[in-house]
Amino acid sequence: MDLFYSSTRSSEVKVKASEAILKGLADDGGLFAPERIPAMDKSLKELAAMDYKQVAYEVMKLFLTDFTEEELRSCIDKAYDSKFDTDEIAPLVKADGAYYLELFHGATIAFKDMALSILPHLLTTSARKNNVKNDIVILTATSGDTGKAALAGFADVPGTKIIVFYPKNGVSPIQEKQMVTQKGDNTFVVGIKGNFDDAQTGVKNMFNNKELAQTLDAAGFQFSSANSINIGRLVPQIVYYVYAYTRLLGDGEIAADETINVVVPTGNFGNILAAYYAKNMGLPIGRLICASNENKVLYDFFESGTYDKNREFVLTTSPSMDILISSNLERLIYKIAGMDAKANKKFMDSLKTDGKYSITDDMKKELADFYGNYASEAETAGIIKAIYEDTGYVIDTHTAVAAKVYKKYVQDTKDTTKAVIASTASPFKFTRSVMDAIDKAKYDAMSDFELVDELSKIANVVVPQAIEDIRTAPVRHDRVCDKTEMEATVRDILGV
Ligand SMILES: *Cc1c(COP(=O)(O)O)cnc(C)c1O
Repeated sequence: MDLFYSSTRSSEVKVKASEAILKGLADDGGLFAPERIPAMDKSLKELAAMDYKQVAYEVMKLFLTDFTEEELRSCIDKAYDSKFDTDEIAPLVKADGAYYLELFHGATIAFKDMALSILPHLLTTSARKNNVKNDIVILTATSGDTGKAALAGFADVPGTKIIVFYPKNGVSPIQEKQMVTQKGDNTFVVGIKGNFDDAQTGVKNMFNNKELAQTLDAAGFQFSSANSINIGRLVPQIVYYVYAYTRLLGDGEIAADETINVVVPTGNFGNILAAYYAKNMGLPIGRLICASNENKVLYDFFESGTYDKNREFVLTTSPSMDILISSNLERLIYKIAGMDAKANKKFMDSLKTDGKYSITDDMKKELADFYGNYASEAETAGIIKAIYEDTGYVIDTHTAVAAKVYKKYVQDTKDTTKAVIASTASPFKFTRSVMDAIDKAKYDAMSDFELVDELSKIANVVVPQAIEDIRTAPVRHDRVCDKTEMEATVRDILGV
């Protein structure tokens, strides 16, 4: 049965999956949401006998119903290949009384690789299906991590180019090195003299520039974004949870139909929303445990029913979760408002004007599947050290937030249902914070690369290729422009 997507802000919009992927965001500013959550049509036992790619196909085909089998399998094959350093793509590791689902074995050793590896192929396939002849130009402003993951995903994908702007003096030296060494003839990385907001404003202005769009069209190009609200990034994430569950089943760790809990370190609410969709597809998930760092706007929301972004923004050691507006939460609000676009729009308008909104009591009841909590900076460091000392397993700072919140959950609820913790980054990506947590006095004076070698030794894990690349790879991008010259730079790159 065909599945359509409608806007979370108006009921008139109804598009196919490929159109939703191409557009990213609905014209009314809403997100595309599936008009229903499809039920799984293979048994968990059947899925347990499949590998990651096969499970991905079985899940994604139910959401991307206008893709042919051949198209979808081709996208999956191109995405989940030797770019990942393990055959399992997402290995499950048992440690400290939980199962860690390692989502960081891709090109940039963080979980955004999982979706950004396949998005370029979903996007170019969607373009073909909708008779778009232009090359797709991905335009992104980044404060570090997403830019690199997008570059790695789009590098050398035929029919695409990617241009990434970053604040020249506003990212870490390692993040900059990762981006400026990016391979691929279709990749372009530009440092701007300005901050992240300048970069983002510049990109937004180009997206809204009709004259520029016409010039591009005449030259055979059109802009698109790799934004995390695209359903082409959301749907591939549902696979994680179906895969994790069926591995547990296949390995005899759980009985048939046994319920599991999942714990997700959360920022933009994409990953945990995918887990919620998996539950709604029929996967036996009990509680969805939403873990925040000190930017605990989601914890407060689950406690009180009021989402309030009016607060101080805290810089933490889990920077990918330093977010005050969790964009993907809108899809949950829409769903628990009974898919009432008008009601949802009211909440979002109020978020825009007042920075907050409060949901109704009936909606609050719909949140019983969720449990929210947060970990302070000291708790995050403490749990990294404790798990390392007890088990030898080393986790990154984001995963540590989830590990700590899971402990709080068990303490609060006495619920000892088996739990899968989404492990969203390799500890090698946040080496300094991780090593400081383990023994600051010992490691404080060491250089970043000394720490990498030390981590490899104590964790007994080889240094990932992504880190070796930064050590040795030559710089391939040295463009710098003023924040007022971004459009001119894009024109220059594209020759228009
Ligand atoms: C982006 C990110 C998160 C947050 O994921 P959301 O889907 O935005 O909630 C958590 N951990 C890491 C390492 C990330 O890069």
